Amino acid sequence: KTFAEAGFSLELMKAIAKQAYEKPTPIQCQSLPIVLSGRDIIGIAKTGSGKTAAFVLPMIVHIMDQPELAKEEGPIGVVCAPTRELAHQIYLEAKKFAKANGIRVSAVYGGMSKLEQFKELKSGCEIVVATPGRLIDMLKMKAVTMSRATYLVLDEADRMFDLGFEPQIRSIVGQIRPDRQTLLFSATMPRKIEKLAREILTDPVRVTV
Ligand code: AMP
Repeated sequence: KTFAEAGFSLELMKAIAKQAYEKPTPIQCQSLPIVLSGRDIIGIAKTGSGKTAAFVLPMIVHIMDQPELAKEEGPIGVVCAPTRELAHQIYLEAKKFAKANGIRVSAVYGGMSKLEQFKELKSGCEIVVATPGRLIDMLKMKAVTMSRATYLVLDEADRMFDLGFEPQIRSIVGQIRPDRQTLLFSATMPRKIEKLAREILTDPVRVTV
């Protein structure tokens, strides 16, 4: 398998080459065609598998595919992660591929000034990477609207539940239009995560690595 088979744009292929990603990892091989076709996915994968690029690359394609939304406000892609460290890692990975395509990425997590994050979100972005609690704060402060969000990623869903973020996740999902594409990644699939997946994903494909 190669990245070229995914049908990525020249700009995206250049950005991938710049990262020296020679070929897709197993999770990327399995999930890229499914996600690029617009379907929901449950990815059972751990950190280190390349799962971040597996959801970031199709997110860039998803955003590039909707130029008619250019004048609207708020992120198109929303990524929730359990910790600020992971959110920051995802932010860095997203930036690698977003920049050349003119896509703005914002990171929103605890431990940083709320005012600074408020200002950054107000200035506009196409992708937001966030921890659930801080994203709720930003939504309450009306720093951000979910009106054009159509691509939602829940990363390390099991850890987010372990950290008690279930209510925040449900609140965030409830603010995003139901015709969105939803991707759920988790290292384990306890019953509570299965239940969430049944409730918030539409006919998902399950991928295990
Ligand atoms: P992740 O599991 O998403 O945290 O990724 C683990 C590491 O693998 C990160 O440093 C990525 O930049 C890197 N990576 C992701 N995809 C590939 C690939 N196809 N080839 C080589 N490295 C990759």
